[in-house]
Amino acid sequence: MMPEQDQPMETAIGLEIHIQLSTREKLFCSDPVDFGAEPNSQVCPVCLGLPGALPVVNREAVALAVRACLAFGCTVHPVSVFARKNYFYPDLPKGYQISQFERPLATGGGVRVRMDEEGTEVPIRIRRIHLEEDAGKSIHDRFPGATAVDLNRTGTPLVEMVSEPDFRSPAQVRIYLDQVKRTLEYLGVSDCNMEEGSLRVDANVSIRPRGTLELGTKTELKNMNSFSGVEKALRVEIDRQRSLVARGEAVEHQTLLWDERKAEVRPMRSKEESHDYRYFPDPDLPPLKLTSAFIERARETLPELPEARRTRFIEGYDLPPYDAGVLTSDRELADYFEGVAERAGSAKVASNWVMGPVLAAMKEADGGAGSFPVSPGALAELIGLVEEGVVNRRGAHTVLDRMVQTGRGKEGHPSQIVQEEGLAQVSDSSQLEGWVLETLAAHPEEVRRFRDGESRLRGFFMGEVMKRSRGKADPGEVARILSAHLQGEKE
Ligand code: ADP
Ligand code: MG
Repeated sequence: MMPEQDQPMETAIGLEIHIQLSTREKLFCSDPVDFGAEPNSQVCPVCLGLPGALPVVNREAVALAVRACLAFGCTVHPVSVFARKNYFYPDLPKGYQISQFERPLATGGGVRVRMDEEGTEVPIRIRRIHLEEDAGKSIHDRFPGATAVDLNRTGTPLVEMVSEPDFRSPAQVRIYLDQVKRTLEYLGVSDCNMEEGSLRVDANVSIRPRGTLELGTKTELKNMNSFSGVEKALRVEIDRQRSLVARGEAVEHQTLLWDERKAEVRPMRSKEESHDYRYFPDPDLPPLKLTSAFIERARETLPELPEARRTRFIEGYDLPPYDAGVLTSDRELADYFEGVAERAGSAKVASNWVMGPVLAAMKEADGGAGSFPVSPGALAELIGLVEEGVVNRRGAHTVLDRMVQTGRGKEGHPSQIVQEEGLAQVSDSSQLEGWVLETLAAHPEEVRRFRDGESRLRGFFMGEVMKRSRGKADPGEVARILSAHLQGEKE
């Protein structure tokens, strides 16, 4: 396939992301928001839309939404308005959804999508972020021949984040989604779990002749349940649109459902326009008014965001961009690394330990940095023991394994474990020399080949000496003594 920039047709993509806010209660009533509860157990007259029930907006949801708006650089409006979006659907008992339409919570803002380690960035403008409630869920596969409805999800607080059609490739979309998700996780605004539906992405896509200004007719893709699914669906749809145009046919404005198994899209319905929904301000809810003090307080309490933290790791700790990216991919991991780096001498050494054995152990335990049994202090202490030559790297890995296995990962334990398990490094030269001589005596054939020029056998001898020391020899010293003797052999 031709690279994107050489195609005669250019792609334009805009995203609508629905993000479930991590509140305890729903947006307009105090029912709990709890994924996986018994169907229809978390409902009340407000979210069921029973006559006479009155909605009251959840302050916690507003506060979380405002944090998200500010993190993406949007302007939060002092007044926004809840409207009714009217449509009929079995999982929408009220017959309308409460959403913000003409006057959204925030507008403007953007995300700089970082395409590579060199810092190539693609600016994506955010059109708006608004608050709305979720609908219930229709269940088609539980009762044969019948559809059931679970209304627990009705009224769950969401923000919808709408971008301008600024993406030019599915790859840009993928990276944007990763960045947005990471930011929301740092903010504690949402858990962004796509499988549980707390982050849903609809992608709008069109093509136009390269160099023209006017956008082509778009289709809207739904039903993707992973970021890679979004990327794949977009590729398939762009190909479909390109072949239509190549055949001289027009792209039809419609909503398409992504079928992950068949890797194809299929039409869902012809698209409704916003006037079909007969939006009007909800008479039960006063306009949402936010004081500038409230907005400023939210701004002041924003944490350092992942992109800023990544830059600080590169500049402040002098880490390679790759390390900085991995370490800031998750807030708890970044905190963990900083805990180690502050106590260990070198940030790069700390980074190597955290990105290597520590991340591997976290993956194995299926847990994050927050629940890792080895404290940053204990790891820094272990790194110190290696630097001081008390234990070699191999022994240190054993100590780390023990701390993970036994949960004894507090300060003071690394040196205790070195003692208990006899892992202290041996640097005594007569001891090391003994192992070297034994090794050379045991392998006369290899010594001869080494003498004949097979220099890569040096590694073999190193390995044998380390084995004889049961892993405890000081590798630097061994290398030195080994060299001296092999040189001697050569003469
Ligand atoms: P609709 O009225 O169909 O909802 P909107 O103009 O509200 O369309 O835009 C919805 C989303 O679709 C936005 O993310 C926007 O960036 C994107 N979008 C709009 N027009 C196009 C287009 N021609 N091609 C690609 N994306 C588009
Ligand atoms: Mg729209």
